[in-house]
Amino acid sequence: MHLAKSNAISLVGLTGTVVEVEADISSNLPGFVLVGLPDASLSEATARVRAAIVNSGLNLSQRKITVNLSPAAVPKFGSSFDLAIAVSVLAANKPFAKSRLAECVHIGELALDGSVKPVNGVLPAVMAARSAGFSTVIVPAANFAEAKLVNSIEVLPVNNLRQVVNIHGYDCAVDVVTLPDVEKTPPAQSSEKDIADIYGQDSAVESLVIAAAGGHHLLMIGSPGVGKTMMAERFASLLPNLSLEQSVETTAVHSIAKNRGLIGSGLIVRPPFEAPHHTASAVSLIGGGTSIPNPGLVSLAHNGVLFLDEAPEFQQPALEVLRQALETGEVAISRAAGTARFPARFQLLLAANPCPCGNALNPKVSCICSAVSRQRYINKLSGPLLDRVDIRLQIQSINATQALLARQETGRQTTEQARLRVIRARSLAAERLSGTGYSLNAQIPASLLHKRFAASREATRLLDIALKRGSISMRGYDRCLRLAQTICDLDAGERVDESHIARAVTMRGSERLAGAAA
Ligand SMILES: [Zn+2]
Repeated sequence: MHLAKSNAISLVGLTGTVVEVEADISSNLPGFVLVGLPDASLSEATARVRAAIVNSGLNLSQRKITVNLSPAAVPKFGSSFDLAIAVSVLAANKPFAKSRLAECVHIGELALDGSVKPVNGVLPAVMAARSAGFSTVIVPAANFAEAKLVNSIEVLPVNNLRQVVNIHGYDCAVDVVTLPDVEKTPPAQSSEKDIADIYGQDSAVESLVIAAAGGHHLLMIGSPGVGKTMMAERFASLLPNLSLEQSVETTAVHSIAKNRGLIGSGLIVRPPFEAPHHTASAVSLIGGGTSIPNPGLVSLAHNGVLFLDEAPEFQQPALEVLRQALETGEVAISRAAGTARFPARFQLLLAANPCPCGNALNPKVSCICSAVSRQRYINKLSGPLLDRVDIRLQIQSINATQALLARQETGRQTTEQARLRVIRARSLAAERLSGTGYSLNAQIPASLLHKRFAASREATRLLDIALKRGSISMRGYDRCLRLAQTICDLDAGERVDESHIARAVTMRGSERLAGAAA
């Protein structure tokens, strides 16, 4: 009997399942078949594996080879099974001397000349191998930096098939494994822009800091050229580095995504910043793909920032999927083969002109839009979406004199100083919320809000009056409370007071401007 087994990992979304690759060599007519639900790119593995084995100078059996991937019900995509298939085929033909096959997982695509090519999703695949109890994983050398982020499992990099079989005690001459030059992760924030470059918009900048400290979603409304994009670009730099757990999650998502070029680089430690164009489709935001589910921009922004410039110009379906992602914190992509889930907890930044012509807030140029078209424009950001946006900021343009004066000012707050304040405020919030499963003020559900945020009666008087008069909804009331708590945390205040509430009410902005919200 000529039979051998090796192991590979099937990835659907971030979930990895161990797949047993079993090769059988029988005395039937020569042939090479692959069974067990392979997709098209996997079916081509037989051609790649055959050529790779022959061109590596290894011995391919001239009889009938059958390779079975099991469990059959687990969907299998892509080319990362090549290595495991080649190894089991070779071992079935001639058993390896000191076999480590049973405790080893193989990940990698084979080129026709026998070299091992990098694949997507190595980080989540290695994590799955470790949780399944394997002691060793063999990965393409180009994916080594990513794979070795996972502790407590031996990671062996390889350049070609001969090195792989050599690890298993197959007697053949091999060259030394060469690793790619890993670019060092750039020191945090080195390439990030500084908020000190924003002139004459101190209160808007402070709102950005508050949004960063509390994790509040934010909408900026202002005429073109007022600096909305400039502010958004600097927003991510105000956020602290990701925690180790967040880093691993975010890196895993980026590892699966096609064309993200993670290969060679290490852990993502800074919050990602994604800024899709307003023509972006719902699929590009949420993710998709015909066979292999690929994460979309909402997942690539996981633990970071998603910025929609000219938000009302986005197509309605795109805004709708965004709302769903905000609600659940994850997206599920269903395909015939199975459902992939990707995390999608991001901070949303929206920018909008005040009206279609953009001049409604401009004191010098008059707006040419009708009231109806203005309302229709802002209504495109649907109520349910805006409902989740705590800060609605109106940004006024500054005139030349103001700009000149602002430039001469010294001692403007830098990103680094602001980030320190954000970190301190966040740790106060995390301390207060310990044991609740939340860490940011913006995340607190209404039920917990009133228990955890003990604002005094006098402090909330302003809100109580507004609520009674009907000028604020219950949801709006809660949003103000969350914001006031963040402002209080930034001030290192003991307890939310009237001034915090008053500032929160201002920052929340007018509900009328924000269309049908609240
Ligand atoms: Zn207008």
